[in-house]
Amino acid sequence: MQGDAYLKCIIPKCGLEYPIESTNVQCEKGHLLDVKYKNKPSPELKEVFYKRRNSEGSIFNESGVWRFRELLNFCQIDTENIEECSKYLVSLDGAEGRQSKPYHMSKAADFIGIANDNLWLQPEGYNPSGSFKDNGMATAVTHAKMVGAKKIVCASTGNTSASAGMFAANEGINCDVYIPAGQIAPGKLSQAYQFGAQIVEVDGNFDDALKQSLDDAQNYDGYTVNSVNPFRIEGQKTIPFRALEYLNWEAPDWIVYPGGALGNTSSCGKALMELYEWGWIKKIPRIAVINSEGASTLSDLYNGEFENEKLRWNKGNPNTELISRYYDHLDNEGIRPKTKATAIQIGRPANILKGLRALEFTNGVATTVSDSEMLDGMSVVGLNGFDCEMASGATVVGIKKLMGEGIIKKDDVVVGILTGRQKDAMIPVDYHKNTENTFAIPPRN
Ligand SMILES: [Zn+2]
Repeated sequence: MQGDAYLKCIIPKCGLEYPIESTNVQCEKGHLLDVKYKNKPSPELKEVFYKRRNSEGSIFNESGVWRFRELLNFCQIDTENIEECSKYLVSLDGAEGRQSKPYHMSKAADFIGIANDNLWLQPEGYNPSGSFKDNGMATAVTHAKMVGAKKIVCASTGNTSASAGMFAANEGINCDVYIPAGQIAPGKLSQAYQFGAQIVEVDGNFDDALKQSLDDAQNYDGYTVNSVNPFRIEGQKTIPFRALEYLNWEAPDWIVYPGGALGNTSSCGKALMELYEWGWIKKIPRIAVINSEGASTLSDLYNGEFENEKLRWNKGNPNTELISRYYDHLDNEGIRPKTKATAIQIGRPANILKGLRALEFTNGVATTVSDSEMLDGMSVVGLNGFDCEMASGATVVGIKKLMGEGIIKKDDVVVGILTGRQKDAMIPVDYHKNTENTFAIPPRN
């Protein structure tokens, strides 16, 4: 036991600390928490991680998450001891993150207008449950196991419930999934049912379902696995780790994500902050977050489209009242998040403050794209032989839009994350039936 991991409030002037066994997702004052490590991992681990790609029979080397286990060692175990690993670390037999790495996709590059060599797209949909969520679920459920939780709880627009349900079934623990009634793609919900999760329907949208799930977790002894859980963020750091490793730890100019609850933005930011502090990378890639036009909280606030003030992390002093007024404005005007890309149909991003911190550290940007643009992005990925969901299409068209605006430069190296696999079968079917769509191949008779 190294005894070097603990939890710490993200707001510097608060800074409350908690032992690593704590299941709080917030400090007493309601701020989000970070998992922190006192030790500084040696850059020589790069070589160790590379060697583990030859797994030699260890599922923890095979796993794209646990291969990097020294950089997320909140269990404080001797990570070389495979027996100890199997006692503590939760894994889907090494499959989480195993197939995830960046690829060149020439048709997507042509569509965007970037040189093929400069564009990398990393499909996270090839995780066992079909989305990037398995990365962070491996770590969150590991922490749940560490504290002896009997039930994990989440609110979900689909992908989280599929992942939580799969991990819960594998670990033999219960799983309650809170969903906004009638708003979830049936294909996504069917996975949670299949894995034996208990579905709890909540009147309202995702934000309402999350609120109720957090209340119920606290009152009825559940363990929350939504991305407000700081241990989720730890596992999701391996998404940029894998991309960077593939690029020989030469940082790209940009890392681009669709923006929903902002767990990915937060985890990418934390990963980059840590790698930079440890001296593993010399350059800090800029993060671009692509919101849907119908669920554009981050983009609106970050770009000063509400009350003419650009919301910033501001070195740990963000104007949280501006956020509250924005949410009041949404409520008063009856504005609900609305996009067919349900994975990012989120009006109140739970990780907004961590997201802002990530954008400040990386000099990041936020923008929006329309549903029809996202469908084009999704479809052109398909033409390269890769499957992705509509929200992932935001990454592709977001890069295109930012290039058009001259923000991403022609010779910049860009890594885009494709967050999930297609789970709503009718989306591509409907897209291709409409001959007006850019990449439509309508049926012939
Ligand atoms: Zn605090």
